[in-house]
Amino acid sequence: MTNHILSLEKLANKWGGKFETLSKPETTSTNTYLAIRENFEHRGFEFAPFALPKHILGINFSKKIIVFNLNTILWGNLIHEMGHVFASKFRPLHSNEWSFFGWEYIVAKYIKGSINVWYEHNYDYVIDDTADDLTIKSATPYQRLEIIHERIKFALENKLARKKNNKITPLAIR
Ligand SMILES: [Zn+2]
Repeated sequence: MTNHILSLEKLANKWGGKFETLSKPETTSTNTYLAIRENFEHRGFEFAPFALPKHILGINFSKKIIVFNLNTILWGNLIHEMGHVFASKFRPLHSNEWSFFGWEYIVAKYIKGSINVWYEHNYDYVIDDTADDLTIKSATPYQRLEIIHERIKFALENKLARKKNNKITPLAIR
């Protein structure tokens, strides 16, 4: 596991959750992946819609477990799934992802991840509150800054993070 993933696992454990990992090679057939997903679904897991057949990435909301394939995971996407578990009171289908976008940024910073890489991992994320389906990729650097600034403020106001001596620490709300 890379350092970022280990740091994220530490956070998940601290918040009463855990990781389950698979390390299937890229060559494994799509059917194998579908079978794996089906098994997890029987165990109450929900999979990220952006995860392609071979991207095993899902969560068990009530048990606070995040499952992913070590071979294909992008740590930015892992943070997003953690957001569904720890920074949202509602199951993925009923959650408002925008409410924890700032939390995701704060977690990325907290584990000392490169923010440019984090943006890359979130390129397809559609920014809320915009009429023209603005994505992270199509936003200008200034728009990104403005958005992140507003989202951090929201995270702090809603107790998704706390600020002490200028250091912002992410919190779990469930
Ligand atoms: Zn999501």
